[in-house]
Amino acid sequence: MTVLHDEVNVLVVGAGAAGAAFTWRLASLGVEVTCLEQGEWQRPESSLTALKNWESKRISERSPNPNIRRNPADYPILDDTSIIKPAIYNGVGGSTILWSAHTPRFRPSDFRVKSLDGVGADWPITYWDLAEYYEINDEIMGTSGLHGDPGNPPRAPRTTPPVPLGIAGSRIAKALNELKWHWWPSDGNILTQDRGSRRACNGCGPCEMGCATGARASVDITYWPEALALGAELRTGATVRRVLSDAAGKATGVEWVDITGQEHITHANIVVMAGNGIGTPRILLNSASKEHPRGIGNSSDQLGRNLMLHPIPVVTGVFDEDVESWSGNDAFALLIQEFYENDDTRDFKRGYEMQVTRGQGPLVTALGGFSLDVPWGTDHHDVFEQYFGRVATVAVTCEDLPHPNNKVTIDSTVTDRFGIPAARMWYELEENSKRMITHGVKSATDLLLKAGARETYAKPFAPAAGFHLMGTARMGNDPRESFVDQACRSHDVPNLLVIDGSVFASAAAVNPTPTLQAVALRAADLLREDALV
Ligand SMILES: Cc1cc2nc3c(=O)[nH]c(=O)nc-3n(C[C@H](O)[C@H](O)[C@H](O)COP(=O)(O)OP(=O)(O)OC[C@H]3O[C@@H](n4cnc5c(N)ncnc54)[C@H](O)[C@@H]3O)c2cc1C
Repeated sequence: MTVLHDEVNVLVVGAGAAGAAFTWRLASLGVEVTCLEQGEWQRPESSLTALKNWESKRISERSPNPNIRRNPADYPILDDTSIIKPAIYNGVGGSTILWSAHTPRFRPSDFRVKSLDGVGADWPITYWDLAEYYEINDEIMGTSGLHGDPGNPPRAPRTTPPVPLGIAGSRIAKALNELKWHWWPSDGNILTQDRGSRRACNGCGPCEMGCATGARASVDITYWPEALALGAELRTGATVRRVLSDAAGKATGVEWVDITGQEHITHANIVVMAGNGIGTPRILLNSASKEHPRGIGNSSDQLGRNLMLHPIPVVTGVFDEDVESWSGNDAFALLIQEFYENDDTRDFKRGYEMQVTRGQGPLVTALGGFSLDVPWGTDHHDVFEQYFGRVATVAVTCEDLPHPNNKVTIDSTVTDRFGIPAARMWYELEENSKRMITHGVKSATDLLLKAGARETYAKPFAPAAGFHLMGTARMGNDPRESFVDQACRSHDVPNLLVIDGSVFASAAAVNPTPTLQAVALRAADLLREDALV
């Protein structure tokens, strides 16, 4: 087959949260930028939240696990070596198509965990290097919330007021006040008032199915329209096979295949990886050559290692009264950071955040919800009645520490539709995480009981929660210990960048997306400042 060649200036791989932010920023600086995305555009109006059978779709063809969903653009991720299973989306918008849009920021201490607490690795940058980029990102994504949290650095007034606490959230807030535990209304990329073509959240619930009103942001409706209007190019159905390099080891472009199977080589001055914490190391490891025998840029053997995922135990409280837990956005209303910072009197390092999530719809409740036991047979209806609308769940996001054996590798015994080797996840829970989970489950249980729950059910571990993918091409000053430098440029291959969550040196105990988008925006500015584009 004839391979088709073309040439671009900056080439970005992946049109998700990071790729969209980076592409928009460079385009706004007048730089020619092209993004290749293996999936296609989504139509928000065809979102499954608009359908009556959304709940059954959620556990089948719209599962967040690509191994269950098996869309054409999904690639296999072998996960029998990982106790947490992958949750991603492949298409324009990336995993923000399915995300819950809870958007707390990292705290300043998260960037200095080694110096402060003797564990993990420090970032080569600080919170303050990202502060202005968090603001830009909050504005473009549209952020509901309330500025002024004394537990976090200051920020601009939020785009719209916070999402409602709801009946259960209000009870939990009251209990938090009585316990004197820190809480604050969550920041989230869900609008509570109309803004442009996006409507205010109607509280329908299953944000992770996509949002028919556009209240919940995803980057296909925020960054991408702006980036394209500025002249950026986005090619969909373009699956990148490998990054190419020359005899000097420099990146020269990428080899990719379109949906007809036609092979392409796009030559580029700068190659930027934004395929997420699994997709990025997969392609870079797959780009081994004579000059880069362990994968491009991987002389340190750090590529793929230090996979961090956030273990997330959940505790569900059952109330006697109807607390309308079928209503409201699905993942957050308030943020509890009482146990966030390191405390040497505890038996684990670092800490965790808790967030209050709503209950599930009727189908998932009938199947047991987050952690309930609903029997089939004669008692089913009675037990269902006791739970439906009467629960609140507290999810505990535990900071994960980096470990070299928690990693992403490639496995050529299984390939995607174009013969590109699969990714394999290797992940075990560290002792530190196990102790943190025990503490977090107790705190969440105490909180729910204080809020009036009659009983609680804990699931110490949510195997489906592999959606925060961090650390597999980490940032650092020492080329022996990290893959990219503070500007997201490969230590070995300066015209190769990684700008997604792969570069995180620590995982913090909050959702990662605003931070990875801030990192991507900053990397774009630094390319321009250093006159590399
Ligand atoms: C169910 C769910 C809930 C979530 N909730 C939250 C939340 O509340 N808050 C939060 O902060 N985060 C949340 N996340 C995580 C959030 O979605 C991710 O952190 C974020 O999308 C990662 O951005 P990214 O750009 O690194 O990767 P992605 O958004 O995953 O985008 C990567 C893109 O790269 C493309 N790609 C990969 N390989 C190739 C290739 N070889 N060729 C071409 N294209 C390629 C993919 O198709 C994909 O579109 C959630 C995720 C899920 C699935």
